Amino acid sequence: MKKENRPKRIAVLGATGSIGTQAIDIIERHPDLYRATVVSGGSRVGELAAVAARLRPRLAVIARRELLGELRRLLEPLGIKCAAGADALAEAASADDVDMVLTATVGYSGLAPTVAAIKAGKDIALANKETLVVAGDLVNSLLLHSPSKIYPVDSEHSAIAQCLAGEDKARVARLIVTASGGPFRTYPKSLIERVTPADALNHPNWSMGAKITVDSATMMNKAFELIEAHHLFGIEPEKITAVVHPQSIVHSMVEFTDGAIKAQLGVPDMRLPIAYALGCHRRLPSAARPLTLTDICSLTFEAPDYDRFPCLNLAKTAMERRGTCACTINAANEVAVAAFLDGRLGFTGIYRTIEATLQRASFVARPAYDDYVACNAESRAIANEFITKN
Ligand code: NAD
Ligand code: MG
Repeated sequence: MKKENRPKRIAVLGATGSIGTQAIDIIERHPDLYRATVVSGGSRVGELAAVAARLRPRLAVIARRELLGELRRLLEPLGIKCAAGADALAEAASADDVDMVLTATVGYSGLAPTVAAIKAGKDIALANKETLVVAGDLVNSLLLHSPSKIYPVDSEHSAIAQCLAGEDKARVARLIVTASGGPFRTYPKSLIERVTPADALNHPNWSMGAKITVDSATMMNKAFELIEAHHLFGIEPEKITAVVHPQSIVHSMVEFTDGAIKAQLGVPDMRLPIAYALGCHRRLPSAARPLTLTDICSLTFEAPDYDRFPCLNLAKTAMERRGTCACTINAANEVAVAAFLDGRLGFTGIYRTIEATLQRASFVARPAYDDYVACNAESRAIANEFITKN
């Protein structure tokens, strides 16, 4: 069958997570347009098997190798192939029966399958922002020699892509990335120091995986999104700013050189940007409730507070230093957030861990793929040691 006459074949990486589950909702609503040929999960083998039994992909991949036997026991009787580990995930992302890869795993794990997918010419629906944070320069250099395109899933970047449609990038004055401000937006410093994982996991507007929810509370997520915007849209760092917008209705804005500002608005429902990415920026009937402007009393905007949320400063550090700097920031953040969620580190210790790791980690100015791998491993070790000793 010719490509345009059959459903687009999607590899859903991170199928058991928040983004993965919502993407599958869209895939199941449009069987004429989409078919999941690969699904993957981290460690929740029962959930992965259940979703695979429903979608009947060719292949299911579990990250943790020790769970492969269990996955096989559940899925091989249904004729679904099973595999495990990071290499299997990268192989699955570049398989012949995949047209587009949805990267919805957490953290550094997104990099290898994205690189493999681009080398194999697959389109990417990119939820895993950490891939661009860690290695945006490498990803962009690979894209120069590949037919692959990246379609952002992150709501802010989807909004910016929508605002830029039909526009000349040379006429962009500023990308204005909105931020909810997280659960501690109005907390004084003294209170922020004492917050618990339960407090941080209580996001006011979005229901998301645990790691990104903590990143939203520290505003590390917004720093990552500024870096992500730079790599996705090729706009200079000094033209990319964050503004706090607690209602999460305006998903981001673009200001042009004539003073006009375009914004994209919608209910805070990730199925909107996911659908826009899966459709390669073609609009589908929405699965979400519509936005009724008259139900909204007001839309407010405030400047971010870099003192109470110091992680925000790390976007500037990363984009100035470049090289492996953002890879170190990401690795230290992953280790610190895991320690915070485990009760081994206080909330403000997350920033201190990143800062200490940045001071100690080696720096490579023009990294190749293997340099990122080494930087990630070294930075994780330094961050772990810092947390143990402090
Ligand atoms: P989640 O924790 O809900 O789900 C993550 C998925 O990845 C699960 O299927 C998990 O099993 C799998 N996974 C975890 N670690 C893995 C590993 N090491 N190797 C392979 N698979 C692994 O997370 P989420 O909230 O869906 O976020 C996924 C990505 O999307 C993150 O990069 C996040 O920043 C980004 N994102 C999420 C949202 C959101 O609303 N949830 C919005 C914007 C961007
Ligand atoms: Mg976002």
